[in-house]
Amino acid sequence: MSNPVPPRQTPDQPWRSEGAPPPPPPKRKMPGGWTGLILTALVVFLLSDLLLSFFGNGGSTTISYTEFTKQLNGGNITKIYSKGDAIEGTLKNKQPKPDDGKGDYTDFTTQRPAFANDNIWGTLQAQNVEVTASPVVQQRSFLANLLISLAPMLLLIGVWVLLARRMSSGGLGGGALGRKAPPKPVDTSQGRRTTFKDVAGIDEVEAELSEVVDFLKNPQAYRRLGAKMPRGVLLSGPPGTGKTLLARAVAGEADVPFFSASASEFIEMIVGVGASRVRELFAEARKVAPAIVFIDEIDTIGRQRGGGGGMGGHDEREQTLNQILTEMDGFSGSEGVIVIAATNRAEILDPALLRPGRFDRRITVSPPDRSGREQILRIHTRQVPLAEGTDLDTVARTTPGMTGADLANLVNEAALLAVKRKQDAVDQENLSEALEKVQLGAVRPLVMPKEERERTAFHESGHALLGMLQPGADPVRKITIVPRGRALGVTLSTPDTDRYSYTEPYLRGRIIGALGGMAAEQVVYGVVTTGAENDLEQLTTIARAMAGRWGMSERVGKVTAIPDDGQSPYGLAAAPTTLDAVDEEARRIVAECWDEAVALLHRHRDRLDALAAALLEAETLDEDAAYAAAGLSRS
Ligand code: ADP
Ligand code: MG
Ligand code: ZN
Repeated sequence: MSNPVPPRQTPDQPWRSEGAPPPPPPKRKMPGGWTGLILTALVVFLLSDLLLSFFGNGGSTTISYTEFTKQLNGGNITKIYSKGDAIEGTLKNKQPKPDDGKGDYTDFTTQRPAFANDNIWGTLQAQNVEVTASPVVQQRSFLANLLISLAPMLLLIGVWVLLARRMSSGGLGGGALGRKAPPKPVDTSQGRRTTFKDVAGIDEVEAELSEVVDFLKNPQAYRRLGAKMPRGVLLSGPPGTGKTLLARAVAGEADVPFFSASASEFIEMIVGVGASRVRELFAEARKVAPAIVFIDEIDTIGRQRGGGGGMGGHDEREQTLNQILTEMDGFSGSEGVIVIAATNRAEILDPALLRPGRFDRRITVSPPDRSGREQILRIHTRQVPLAEGTDLDTVARTTPGMTGADLANLVNEAALLAVKRKQDAVDQENLSEALEKVQLGAVRPLVMPKEERERTAFHESGHALLGMLQPGADPVRKITIVPRGRALGVTLSTPDTDRYSYTEPYLRGRIIGALGGMAAEQVVYGVVTTGAENDLEQLTTIARAMAGRWGMSERVGKVTAIPDDGQSPYGLAAAPTTLDAVDEEARRIVAECWDEAVALLHRHRDRLDALAAALLEAETLDEDAAYAAAGLSRS
């Protein structure tokens, strides 16, 4: 729905801009190069030839002396000019041209042979012809002759100089620098720009940014009081929460040019140019200030220095980052160029970035809550016709944890479904089906052998039943043994309301639920299969975090032993013995949960069998059907 960022103007320019004055027209090349030069020469030659011939014998026809004598004797000549033996004259009545007979002539020239012994003077007098002895060809002055003979040369030189001048003004010095065109007003007609109206569910962030908008709108007010604006704003939050959208909205709201570049685009270029590209970008922005420079994924160049990191490309990253910091330090604070940077992982950023005068304003963008999700759905359904009775609130309720991007995608999937079914509006059915596809993955057409289906039914029933039996666990929303994505079956549990923190019993419940699939296979078949890989990954993450991050193990203690992203820039985050303890404690937690899972399933074997049978029958069970099949009521 929101208009996409325009493409880069040139491939060697790593940033994109919108709302900026249009770039100067591409420098015109010398038209056609050498061919152009030759063409010009040809035209000049022809022109001068024409000119000369015009001055030469002003369009009179050359005739033979015999013809002349015939006309003279016929009394058809009014006047002649003569010089030596050359005669130029005019006829009374026009005659057909003697050589080809095409067209007529009245003016003529001819040459009197030296041996002619006619009494031409007598005849002329008898005919009453006016005779003048003036030059046949108008004698030009020496200067005029010189000028005419030089004209082609002069013309050539003139054209050459013109071309050369145009080339130097556009070519050398990088186009924009050479041509000092007056800055044009921002063209606002080029499509609607993104504003805060396109952003929802993150009102507190909007409020913080509206100060920036205000400054960009009237910097004078701030300057008068000597107030300085933050030079940099750092937006941090999970992907898809609308950071890029927000930055564009700030620019659109203030109606100032927006320059955006991804930090990775700076450094993936040829080594050594990252810094100079940054310099160019900021120079462009200053030219049209007030403006916004947006640097996405700043963490790719803004990582803490000196740590593990990669091997090569260090210098390049550092130089690019330093250049950004230099540019920011260079602002007087009232120039009106504000840098907005975005990152998914603010915690790994170099502290130098966060010093005052740099990205000193840090704003966290979080996934939206229930009402935020509803508003976002409303924004993304503005252009989508909704069937009557479509309830976006219900959709918002069943999508905890989803980001703005997820919701935009959900609406699009629903619209695609509606198109596929040739409906004229998107209805609730489309939305819930799209949600299923987004949450569970697309249905995979896969014919499974009977035993495999049965095993999957028990596996999923194990997950679901343990989920239902845990007090305080997220309710089971859907169970399916239709293969989706990479999974052979899926059990979906989502909370009733958004959760912001978790208790230890809840986390144990999650681990028990995740073990449920494997435990059911163990209880029913006595063996386990490879189908639980994903389950194990999930529960390992939870168990390790419980022990190493959340202080839920007495042996490890109330300390953080493992960093957030699992890989610390300083190598090990804790003493090896502490890390060993984390591993052992995670193992202990999982082992306890496993015993409990198996015990629960043995105790509720009848419910497990009933649920699996229902699942084999129906393939997909929704919330009510699942609880009913298990003989449980929703707590
Ligand atoms: P990020 O930069 O944080 O990864 P984006 O700004 O690229 O996220 O968001 C991607 C898309 O998701 C946006 O173009 C927009 O369509 C949608 N979106 C994300 N957050 C919101 C929001 N708060 N309100 C409306 N739409 C949103
Ligand atoms: Mg983004
Ligand atoms: Zn499983």
